[in-house]
Amino acid sequence: MNILVINCGSSSLKYQLIESDTEQVLAKGLCERIGIDGSAITHQPKGGDKVTEEIPMKDHKDAVKLVIDKLTDKKVGVVDSLSEIDAVGHRVVHGGEKFASSVVIDDEVIKAIEECNDLAPLHNPANIIGINACAEVMPGVPMVAVFDTAFHQTMPKKAYLYGLPYEYYEKYKVRRYGFHGTSHDYVSDRAAKILGKDRKDLKIIVCHLGNGASISAVKNGQSVDTSMGLTPLEGLMMGTRSGDIDPAIVGFIAEKEGISSDEVVTILNKKSGVYGLSDGISSDFRDLATAAESGNAKAKDTLDAYAYKVAKYIGSYIVAMGGVDVIVFTAGVGENNMQVREAIAKYLEFLGVSFDKEKNKIRGEELILSKPGDKVTLMVVPTNEELAIARETVRLTAK
Ligand code: AMP
Repeated sequence: MNILVINCGSSSLKYQLIESDTEQVLAKGLCERIGIDGSAITHQPKGGDKVTEEIPMKDHKDAVKLVIDKLTDKKVGVVDSLSEIDAVGHRVVHGGEKFASSVVIDDEVIKAIEECNDLAPLHNPANIIGINACAEVMPGVPMVAVFDTAFHQTMPKKAYLYGLPYEYYEKYKVRRYGFHGTSHDYVSDRAAKILGKDRKDLKIIVCHLGNGASISAVKNGQSVDTSMGLTPLEGLMMGTRSGDIDPAIVGFIAEKEGISSDEVVTILNKKSGVYGLSDGISSDFRDLATAAESGNAKAKDTLDAYAYKVAKYIGSYIVAMGGVDVIVFTAGVGENNMQVREAIAKYLEFLGVSFDKEKNKIRGEELILSKPGDKVTLMVVPTNEELAIARETVRLTAK
């Protein structure tokens, strides 16, 4: 089957067309600045060059039409017609407590996703726009919603309830949901397969370290805890997101700076994390590593704090699961940044993880960083959320 995987943001639309038997990406691309001046599409067919075209897109429906044009284009296309696209898989950020797994999209499902909008006001409305746009442009093509939160719905109450008045959970569903679930699921499953084991027999900690970052504890194949919460702001320090802080800081800064709590939360989302702590050097770990290597103390302190915080989470999840068999790094930083991996690995020596510095030089590949015979396996597994979404779409739509 040819599966079109769609990841819609408020002004962007990322896509991949994946052939499910071979799991090959036939084409991928990105529509940017949808509804804004200067909208553009970048399209790359398998084995071909990237083509970028500035072209007006007034809304997501225009963007979807353009994607179909590119996919079926005589020169840069990879299929002859729309009829060769068998199903569409949509990434949906928040499924609340309603969705513990992926679902085939119908009117009821759209309504239920809309009901989760409050919980992800920046993301879910955009996801629904993408779903509606595809429904209009590709009527009759089955569509599946794959939720970032679904994998974490197995967390027990003790992991997902906050120490807040219970009525906030009852009235507003304020609780930990967790995100990056598709990645944590894919990576923990893949790690077990690489080791030739059944995920059901393992305690795995997945460190998804990208621009956004989260850690999960996956016990016997199920997520039992994860670091992101009601929103993707909680947990690890990230590119620009603060992660865990004392909640009283919000009111304190609002008063000192004479700004609203909303404005402080925007700062926590957009101006904090490694970008903020490094005093604005960069949110990109490549820049931070380069600055630290050239002796910049703020960059070094930031990277030290980052590794320490990741290690603390790992420690807490080892206790939560009563042990650990496998610790996995994934996403942009986890797959590529050797300085960060080495700094975290130093904290794991007490677990009996001997770290292979030579192997650590490899980037973006499946890799075992611990030595054979170590009590705990430390590894790298590149994530592939699009492939995971395509697999889910096939699972639910194949005849
Ligand atoms: P993601 O959000 O998963 O795309 O990850 C983005 C982060 O990955 C950025 O902070 C990048 O610095 C980091 N990253 C991506 N590629 C590399 C690389 N080759 N070396 C070091 N860091 C990288």
